[in-house]
Amino acid sequence: MPRDSNQLIPLDASGQPSGCNEPIFGLDAAALTARMEALGEPAWRGKQIAEALYDQWVRDISGITTLPKSLRQRLASEGWQVARPVIANVFQSADGTERYLIEFPGLIGKGETAEAVWMPEGDDGEAGDGSAEEAKDWRRATVCVSSQLGCAVNCQFCLTAKLGLQRNLTAGEIAGQVIAVLERHAVRVGRDRVNLVFMGMGEPFLNYDNFMAAVRLLVNEVGLSPQRMTVSTSGVVPGIERFAQEPPGLRPKLAISLNSPNDAVRAEIMPINRKWPIASVIEAVRSVQLRPRERVTFEYVLLGGVTDLPEHARDVARLVRRSGLSAKVNLIAWNPGPGIEFSTPKPEAVERFRSELAGEGIPAYVRQPRGRDIFAACGQLKRTIEG
Ligand code: SAH
Ligand code: SF4
Repeated sequence: MPRDSNQLIPLDASGQPSGCNEPIFGLDAAALTARMEALGEPAWRGKQIAEALYDQWVRDISGITTLPKSLRQRLASEGWQVARPVIANVFQSADGTERYLIEFPGLIGKGETAEAVWMPEGDDGEAGDGSAEEAKDWRRATVCVSSQLGCAVNCQFCLTAKLGLQRNLTAGEIAGQVIAVLERHAVRVGRDRVNLVFMGMGEPFLNYDNFMAAVRLLVNEVGLSPQRMTVSTSGVVPGIERFAQEPPGLRPKLAISLNSPNDAVRAEIMPINRKWPIASVIEAVRSVQLRPRERVTFEYVLLGGVTDLPEHARDVARLVRRSGLSAKVNLIAWNPGPGIEFSTPKPEAVERFRSELAGEGIPAYVRQPRGRDIFAACGQLKRTIEG
């Protein structure tokens, strides 16, 4: 259930929010400017605060040293707080992957945590020896963040589904996960090669406004490139249609969790297919105007004996070809989770599926599982705190 975003704001006697006790991390430069003006301050103070939050990554009002001390004191006394999400727990995989439980200031101790994952590369996805040296030695990396706490979509193979939907994350809570991870690894925005994927807990297109507001913050304020971002959806058609209307300079790349080329099978493993069957999803994706050289990704979880047969590969190829989309397929061998009754396909079945697609002229890549040992791999994010 979405949390009432006013919950954190103390109300005055008339029931109106008093002061500014909501987190300012998450407000964009325009909103910060409006607040400064409302306080009788010059508009450019808003821009200074935005720079402090999103370029310098300050954590406290007192750290915004471009503001006069008297103003910082006034803001703090009126209840202004940065309140950026913080990493509360780190799980480290032998392959260099890290999984984080992230807490939200004001809600600490409430048991609410989002999950984010850091996947350094430079080892071609092969498991490393886990030495600290190697973990630091990344040339490029992928950050994966959550858009909701839990998820309502209920895909049968996904551990996150077991949580149900707890609530939507706000724009600041989504963007804040990214900053927390970038800061931990001293990433230099604009210089280091870091990709961002909205593929953690939750269905981004069922929290569309907050998800896109987070993207705008990350692009406009933090300076990340939308061409290095990918959002994955289980196929929420109205969300895809809205996404198609976003300016190309502001939208991530699109990935669709296909997982089966067949409506009957897909509906079994992804109940959302009953509402939006495959053809309606493809139709919506076709309305997204791709940038030059951009391809849509179809993600395909291989469930042993269920979706990993050669005939399924041929059906996927036919579907992709008929769609007319510039597309590629990412194959993901199912990652196991407690209480889920599927099986991981044999490596030979994965390779056979890939070569079947390739033989049909469809570019297909096998995504190596990252951080399975710490429950960081796709579909394993469920606040698992045992090793
Ligand atoms: N909710 C969005 C984004 C998060 S899930 C979506 O479903 O697209 C990211 C990807 O992980 C999806 O493609 C999903 O199909 C896949 N996935 C879920 N559970 C998995 C599991 N146990 N093993 C492998 N991939 C899984
Ligand atoms: Fe939700 Fe994605 Fe998991 Fe399906 S796969 S339950 S949409 S997080």
